[in-house]
Amino acid sequence: DEESNLTVAVRVRPMNSRELGTVGVSDIVRVKDKDLIIQVEGNGNMNFNHLFQYDHIFWSVDEESPVYSTQEDVFLTIGKPLLNSAFRGYNACLFAYGQTGSGKSFSMMGRNMCEIIDIDSEDYSGITPRFCRDLFNRINSLPETQTASVEVSYFEIYNEKIHDLLTQTNNLNRQPLKVREHPEWGPYVVDLTVHPVNTYKELRNYLLIGNKNRATAATTMNEKSSRSHSIFTIELSLIDTIDDKETSRRSRVSLVDLAGSERLGNSHNSEEKIRQGVCINKSLLTLGKVISSLADQKKNLFVPYRDSVLTWLLRESLGGNSLTSMLATITPANSHIDETLATLRYACQARSIVNRARINENPHD
Ligand code: ADP
Ligand code: MG
Repeated sequence: DEESNLTVAVRVRPMNSRELGTVGVSDIVRVKDKDLIIQVEGNGNMNFNHLFQYDHIFWSVDEESPVYSTQEDVFLTIGKPLLNSAFRGYNACLFAYGQTGSGKSFSMMGRNMCEIIDIDSEDYSGITPRFCRDLFNRINSLPETQTASVEVSYFEIYNEKIHDLLTQTNNLNRQPLKVREHPEWGPYVVDLTVHPVNTYKELRNYLLIGNKNRATAATTMNEKSSRSHSIFTIELSLIDTIDDKETSRRSRVSLVDLAGSERLGNSHNSEEKIRQGVCINKSLLTLGKVISSLADQKKNLFVPYRDSVLTWLLRESLGGNSLTSMLATITPANSHIDETLATLRYACQARSIVNRARINENPHD
């Protein structure tokens, strides 16, 4: 019973004031059940549409719409299933993909990722804080035969260099961290700080520290926020005691806010762009290559995980022992049609990945 362990969803955000103030602005996205339609304005009656299909489409454009998707809806549909599978011992990964300003951070973290009031808000908090609240709700209601422990880490990748977001000292002056391969658990970041947490509040404080470090680095360095990937990782260990025998399971959940996809453009032209010297984000480009070689499984293609830091670290989450959700974020405004189409195509390609997940189980002697 092989089925896809990758769920691909698209979210359409409301138009912002800049888009609304543009002359000739129009909303080109239509949603009908699982079909997403992009209406292209041609000359006269030369109009034609692009049709895409996804596992889920979240319409967050106008709150009056009967199909309007809230932060809670998005979490329940694509986040919560990963939490359930983490408790069963599977790794999980959720990443947000889209051009800068399309709603990645809003969806992953919330309206304002540096404010407690927003992070904890019933209305505004994003997938990551909701995931963590539910994680501890579930831990607190485990049966007596089970105990759980949670550790978190938070880092960013900028220009293929890894920086810990949970250290006190200024990130920019620190040596970047390296990736190594653990014989059993796979790739990991050497010297990354890992923080045990016992409550949601403790965890949320680490989230805020990391978010603030991310924001500070972004204002110090031009463009950094749109060109860096942030990876928040939760390690969950569960110990079951049945008839005096202990069994442990552990799972890793990575929640990833990817760099803006705008420099990537159409993946078919990427070699050409490199030749032209256009700056391309290597991790995002390689993620696309990894996704397409996984999608084309019949050809048994080599999957170039190690070509970038991001794909190397997410290897176990993309092709191996894991369940993955991808959230592609777009704007409905006609002014961004090229980036929107590129995002939608990338997401379609991702959708054909098929994998089988395996439980991380270790019987104790
Ligand atoms: P990105 O991280 O992709 O660059 P952001 O998440 O920062 O984009 O979103 C850009 C702006 O749009 C922010 O002001 C954010 O609050 C707003 N926004 C994004 N998605 C939504 C949404 N679904 N509903 C309301 N506002 C949104
Ligand atoms: Mg962002």
